[in-house]
Amino acid sequence: MVKDNDLLASVSDVSTESEFFSPVPPGYKKGKTRYCFVMGTVMSGLGKGIFSSCLAKLMQDKGLKVAPIKLEGYLNVDSGTLNPFRHGEVFVLDDGMECDMDLGTYERMLDMDLSRANFATSGQIFSLVLNKERHGDYLGRDVQMIPHVTGEVKLRLRQLAADSDADIVFVEIGGTVGDLENAYFIEAMRELAYEEGPNSSCCVALTYILEPKTLGEQKSKAAQLGIKQLMQLGIQPDIIACRAASPVTEKVRQKISVYSNVPLGRVISLPDSTSVYMIPAMIREVGLDFEVARLLKIDDRINLRHERKAWAKWCDFMDKIGSTDSEATIGVTGKYTSVRDSYASIINSLEHAGIALGCKVNIKWIDTTGITDKNAPEELGDVDGIIVPGGFGTRGAEGKIACIRYAREHDLPYLGLCFGFQMAVIEFSRNVCGLAKANSTEIEPDCAEPVIDILPEQKKIEGLGGNMRLGGRDIELKAGTIAWELFDKAKSVRMRFRHRYEVDPRYIERLEAGGLVFSGKAPDQPIMQILELPLHPFFMGTQAHPCLTSRPLRPQPMFVGLVAAAIQRRRPSENLPDCVKAARKVCSHST
Ligand code: GLN
Repeated sequence: MVKDNDLLASVSDVSTESEFFSPVPPGYKKGKTRYCFVMGTVMSGLGKGIFSSCLAKLMQDKGLKVAPIKLEGYLNVDSGTLNPFRHGEVFVLDDGMECDMDLGTYERMLDMDLSRANFATSGQIFSLVLNKERHGDYLGRDVQMIPHVTGEVKLRLRQLAADSDADIVFVEIGGTVGDLENAYFIEAMRELAYEEGPNSSCCVALTYILEPKTLGEQKSKAAQLGIKQLMQLGIQPDIIACRAASPVTEKVRQKISVYSNVPLGRVISLPDSTSVYMIPAMIREVGLDFEVARLLKIDDRINLRHERKAWAKWCDFMDKIGSTDSEATIGVTGKYTSVRDSYASIINSLEHAGIALGCKVNIKWIDTTGITDKNAPEELGDVDGIIVPGGFGTRGAEGKIACIRYAREHDLPYLGLCFGFQMAVIEFSRNVCGLAKANSTEIEPDCAEPVIDILPEQKKIEGLGGNMRLGGRDIELKAGTIAWELFDKAKSVRMRFRHRYEVDPRYIERLEAGGLVFSGKAPDQPIMQILELPLHPFFMGTQAHPCLTSRPLRPQPMFVGLVAAAIQRRRPSENLPDCVKAARKVCSHST
């Protein structure tokens, strides 16, 4: 006979005799970790990740340990093979996991490095289940969505809880309630909440309040139906966050409250915000953070002194948002110019750098497909700096090279990221080193001067999705260089990588003889990782993706250097401090 308070102990048995299947990881302490589930109704793109990370940040501020996890319904094992045009940028974690861009939101908001433990897809879950089945781990049972697949999901969540020792695990369920592919995640969360017992978890439903222009008033029906759908799945939301273009009226909140059994105080208005970094304040203002603590009966773990300090720091940061005394326009060249999500980390990095320098950074998106040496002056005449971001394939590559040439020859601040680093090497080889036929073998497989070629170590690994150099690596900095100055004279810095190609070491000497400085290298291999031009106001490229590690309170120095140089270019008469010095000043002040 199963006693209620003994439920978890008994369900951990994997046997053919019982209908329970809920494996529990070793060392799991029931009750230690609470769970906060965040899901969306009505439509996707509500900003579940933003909401969840902001709420998690507020709990972290209170001295609580938080661990986020995103559950993705798709069958891909990771996000590496996804088209950023459809799904937003592929975010790379330090351990090399290629994941959804929301993990970037969590890392930035929580100022925390995450790992593959924080990202689960249906592809991973099903692979695990099928492997277990082949190993005979299910002891003759027919393997079913419930309890086996849901059991695997619960195991992942509890594993994260046990490994992170978190006070609260924030579980974001991708997509929308009602999506077939997400249904088993919601079922798993229902089971987990039941097994963990009362006050062990809370459920936040994000919804959207429509405001058709023709009516001029907010309508709650779509939201009501979305919540109804959730309740039909056996989930009673504890909190409803109403996303909308403008503040949600009390009347609409009342309607939703009545309809959903959620007290009015827990139906909150979450209108659009100019900066995601203002959202924690919106959540805090309505007291939702303490409400969650109460729901989870975790108030006694709160450290108010910690919270006061952390919040004061955040308020200082918020004060700087919008209080700018300069302006600069950065041109970002890119293939996916129509979808801003594909460059989320770059946009964030520029925002962080701008806030730190008190500068309003405008982004001008530049489609390079039609750009040549001839029309580059026209296309780039109104920007104060350029970024050529990461990319794959040939489209627009020559246009990017033309932009880089223009930047190099006209003292226009330049930052090349990964592909942008490689394109800068090609441009320099062609136009300075006399290697007219220089190219990358990615663009021209049989080119005469393959200055950028596939990594020897990667050549051995076959199969798309599995042959990239991925994740965090140390970069050794060369003393006396601009990069070394920028990083406060550090011996080495850590950045994240995602590439197949690199500078062919046979050309290094020739490039250096032409005046290109490789200021960052891999410690143990001749892999060039940062380049710069000492006589240019700011010309830097990196094989890494520094945008992946820029944080609001710790802006990434390369972006700060670029924006500082752009401000200088805009106001040449003002005798502003050298951009590297300006960058160092704000970066060393940041925490
Ligand atoms: N396509 C280039 C490579 O594979 C650059 C990749 C990137 O920009 N992420 O090396």
